[in-house]
Amino acid sequence: MVDGVGSKVCVVGGGPAGLLSSYVLVNLGFEVSIFEEHREVGIPRHCSGMLSDYVVSSLSGFVKDCVVGRFRSYALILDTHSSFKEVSTLTFNEYVYAVDREKLEKNVYEVLTSSGVDVRLKNKVMEISFNPLRITLESGKYETCDYVVVGEGAVRRLSKSLGFCKSVKNAFGLQAVIKTSKTLEVPYVVLSKFFDKDSFGWVIPLENKEALVGVISRNNLRLRLAYLIKKFLRYEGLRDLNLINVFGGLIPLDTPCSTVIKEHNVIAVGDAASMIKPISKGGLYPITLSIQALRKSVRRGDIDLKLYVENMKSIVSKLRTQHIVKDVVMFFGGYYNLVKLLNEFKVREVKVLKYDDLVLKGMSLISKR
Ligand SMILES: Cc1cc2nc3c(=O)[nH]c(=O)nc-3n(C[C@H](O)[C@H](O)[C@H](O)COP(=O)(O)OP(=O)(O)OC[C@H]3O[C@@H](n4cnc5c(N)ncnc54)[C@H](O)[C@@H]3O)c2cc1C
Repeated sequence: MVDGVGSKVCVVGGGPAGLLSSYVLVNLGFEVSIFEEHREVGIPRHCSGMLSDYVVSSLSGFVKDCVVGRFRSYALILDTHSSFKEVSTLTFNEYVYAVDREKLEKNVYEVLTSSGVDVRLKNKVMEISFNPLRITLESGKYETCDYVVVGEGAVRRLSKSLGFCKSVKNAFGLQAVIKTSKTLEVPYVVLSKFFDKDSFGWVIPLENKEALVGVISRNNLRLRLAYLIKKFLRYEGLRDLNLINVFGGLIPLDTPCSTVIKEHNVIAVGDAASMIKPISKGGLYPITLSIQALRKSVRRGDIDLKLYVENMKSIVSKLRTQHIVKDVVMFFGGYYNLVKLLNEFKVREVKVLKYDDLVLKGMSLISKR
């Protein structure tokens, strides 16, 4: 017997979490309908698309034509009073990839639709109700389902009302694509005392001498992005700003939420369950692990929700550990102070063994070089 035959799954949201969960379930024989409020998947663009080698390999079928850059290191830049100063380098054991996220989502969408999956664009889900389990759309129509997968992203309107997340705290990430006069070699991570202490800025080289400049913040976002761009232009000796595009999105700040409501067959995935790496703010790694957990939780035509919770435990624990590390860094004044310390102790290289889990291999001091 094919596993999911007969069971209908309604998926709220056509972001990576909803699409990839659908892909797994369709391949296990479930009948899946995806409801996405926008007219296309992948828009509006919000993500920087930095993915580890592990994520890219796991999603290789969808990612192959989406890679726009790959790097073995990041430059850690301290925003000093006068200028930017490169104080240290984060080097990785494996490549980190810059990926066109819109294309990635469109690739998954195409595979799903070409295999006949029912994807309903411009359909916003307003409510999820029980006994019987059903979703109600903005049009007033409703759909009865055996399972509902909530992949609504960081907004977490449904997740909060259903009780998955007790609190909903988000930051906002704002990014600009700008033209540069030369191709940057590596991404920059910028630490400034003008940013929130748990926040940072970044500059990621893209194709065609473009760069993605971004910052995370809870407030004064535009000012902070403008400040970062101005300082970056000065650092690179660029006179004029050639702005191509500005976009952004919400980033969950909370620890992982619950992932299932067992008695009602509802699962929350991705940002909807605050499954995000709290330090780098990456969400695709937890999503990749979650869909593996989902795949392993299907038994005899059903999603075994108890088993799913069991399979999710190691992921949740990884993310919680990162929250603890982050809290310790915040206790000592935040990322800016940490990088200032690296500068003071002349730590010129921090070797990262595992990008996603932030496992460090060691540090090199200038005196030992
Ligand atoms: C500025 C920024 C930079 C980032 N950079 C990275 C990065 O470099 N690497 C990384 O791994 N992660 C990054 N992330 C995080 C990553 O983008 C998210 O973790 C990821 O998009 C989460 O996927 P998701 O499917 O859970 O949610 P989303 O991508 O937000 O998708 C949710 C979907 O649900 C739809 N939706 C919402 N509500 C409803 C509803 N009621 N009915 C129907 N549809 C609905 C939305 O339209 C959307 O399409 C970044 C995020 C931001 C904001």
